[in-house]
Amino acid sequence: MLRPALIESLPDLPAPVLTIYLDTNRAKAVNRVLEPAYLISLGSQAKLMEGKLPPEDRESFREQVTRADAFLRIHPPRSKGVMIFAGPNSWKFVPLEAEIKDEVQWGTPDLAQLFWLLDEHKPYGIVIVNRKHAQFFVYWLGEMLEVEDKEFTLEPSKEKEMGPVARAGGVRVSRGTARDVFEHHVDAQYAHYYRQIAEDIQRWSDVEHFQSMFLLGLVEMVKAIQKELPQTLREKVMLVEGDLGWVSRAELHQRIGPIVAKHECERKAAVIDALLSDDRGLVVGIDETLARLQQGRIRNLVVVKGLDASLKRCGECLWVDRTIDPICPACGRERHTVTLHEVLPELARRYKVSVEVVSGEAGRKLQEMGGMGAWLREFDRKEYGEHLTFA
Ligand SMILES: [Zn+2]
Repeated sequence: MLRPALIESLPDLPAPVLTIYLDTNRAKAVNRVLEPAYLISLGSQAKLMEGKLPPEDRESFREQVTRADAFLRIHPPRSKGVMIFAGPNSWKFVPLEAEIKDEVQWGTPDLAQLFWLLDEHKPYGIVIVNRKHAQFFVYWLGEMLEVEDKEFTLEPSKEKEMGPVARAGGVRVSRGTARDVFEHHVDAQYAHYYRQIAEDIQRWSDVEHFQSMFLLGLVEMVKAIQKELPQTLREKVMLVEGDLGWVSRAELHQRIGPIVAKHECERKAAVIDALLSDDRGLVVGIDETLARLQQGRIRNLVVVKGLDASLKRCGECLWVDRTIDPICPACGRERHTVTLHEVLPELARRYKVSVEVVSGEAGRKLQEMGGMGAWLREFDRKEYGEHLTFA
């Protein structure tokens, strides 16, 4: 699984570096033959790229392409896609379980496609409980990683504390049979166990800021745990009923994948519906959204997957927009052509804006509004978009 530390380290890779994204999905027949499609694509994209490079960079570029090609031939990828960063003093090979578009770049590490993927696929926390233990997983970009496994053992009943006689108002009262007492003892321990899991979920959610979490287990267990969660968190935790404590890791992954995908789809549809139904505190369309974004006025942004546009960026103040003026009106410097696809993830990170990438039906609705939209910061979250669960 992708680690946040790895992602953070990528921008610091020393340039020039070769960046490669390849669709290596073996479900596609063209990727299972002797000369798989991804290797052919690497070759042809590298050739195109080389033609655009200054002559002095070409040998170094070819060296890294050869290195990546050789690696892929010796280690045929098992993942849906791969990302490679290769330079004279660096090498990162990152398998990805997501749909990847083939791409070859040279220069500074090209993180645009990765950032689009990260904005499209948010991490989710998954908690699976049964009578024996609670397992905590992170589900992210089609992969599942176990972060903790907490065992639960039922303590034997202690005769002194749990004896059949209890004090009530100073009078010794018999409270039933030994069996009742044992059941009471078990119930009390489970109640304690549920409270502990609820506390763990809360702590974990505070640290990771998950968009949503999933709590899977027998109905009485997940409901009992849900009751112990604070109200704000309860809305974020989806209950999934079923005894999954015994299934294999592979089967678990297979079962959880569609549940997460369905939820993600519904969550994004809700985001777009909110954008359509709100009438204040909103901006829509590429031009207005980009302008407000660079004024630092945007809180959350939604964009259609794959949206692109040709923009001009000032080399000095870095302001970007769609006007074709070759000179920046603010600082008089030259403006260069860039694409929305290249600069949007970077802009969002610079202005600390959370981005949702939507596709499907939600994407079609957003496309009708110009492909992009956002909520402004100055509008109170309480009034606008409170039902949204942006991180
Ligand atoms: Zn400027």
